[in-house]
Amino acid sequence: MPASDDRTREFAFELALCAHLEAETEWLPARQLGAAVVAPGRRIVDICAVVPGPRFDERTAITADTIPTRAIESDVGVGEAVYWRDAFDCSREAARTAVDRAVESGFFERERRGAREYVRRTTRYPEEWFAELVGVENKPDLDAPGALERQLRTDVSLGLFDRVVLATESYVTRAHLNRLPEEAGVWRFDPETGDRTVVREPTPLRTDRPGVELVEERPLRTDVAVVSAAEKARARRRLAERAYGKGWRTYEFPACARADATADGRPRCSHFGRVVDPARECGADCPAREDGDAPDADVAALRDTRTPWVRDPAGVVRRQSGLDRFT
Ligand code: SF4
Repeated sequence: MPASDDRTREFAFELALCAHLEAETEWLPARQLGAAVVAPGRRIVDICAVVPGPRFDERTAITADTIPTRAIESDVGVGEAVYWRDAFDCSREAARTAVDRAVESGFFERERRGAREYVRRTTRYPEEWFAELVGVENKPDLDAPGALERQLRTDVSLGLFDRVVLATESYVTRAHLNRLPEEAGVWRFDPETGDRTVVREPTPLRTDRPGVELVEERPLRTDVAVVSAAEKARARRRLAERAYGKGWRTYEFPACARADATADGRPRCSHFGRVVDPARECGADCPAREDGDAPDADVAALRDTRTPWVRDPAGVVRRQSGLDRFT
């Protein structure tokens, strides 16, 4: 295992901040999600925190998973079941996937009429289930800022998040603040103690107005795209859904006798005495590795206990044998 480098430090910082937000707020933090509209893979935000809204309980009652956007936007309603293929304005394959996932999650139910499959919603989609999306960019060491300024400027000009924050372990100087867009908030966070100081409050962004997305930067030109308020609303819902389904404990614990789980579900190595990134550090080439069982951490149970996310909702499907299963 290499000595702790920038990436392992950022990973441990990110997990510590997610655990802290989970403990100190009602928010639902999730890690590493696409946060652009026109070029979704171009901006991956470190943490997207969902702030519950007035209809949050209606959303948690449906499913613990992500509800596919295509299913939400389809012509499948709560009333009369419709022929599945007629309800989607996309490829057959994409529609099929959306239907299957929506049925699996309990958002759709299906029935067969002759050789045809019909679907309907089990409930209306509660649009106001989230109140805000908070985007957090982590940069433990401000002396190695990388693309930080560009990332924050992109977030501010696009306005997909209601608030955008930089989280750092570094002491934040006036010069640092001056380099960042003034709308971006700044937190100083100590991943060891969990102390978080608000250095600057974020300015709320206008999510209900068109935004400007930085699509590509080349040496002599920068391509941007104007994103309408309606496109942003769709992207925000997709992002909120993905965050709800994904959360932040997305790693596998290593099958190593020296691996442990912290009380809040972070992977810790007793040999190196710190949180580790299993995907990067716990391979066969780790000199201290000792084959053993992976720690017995039930991360879904932890998330259920520590956040408003509901692991195993009763569901809204009217469970009748043969109705919710397509055979
Ligand atoms: S948990 Fe095991 S494999 Fe991972 S860094 Fe520690 S000793 Fe190496």
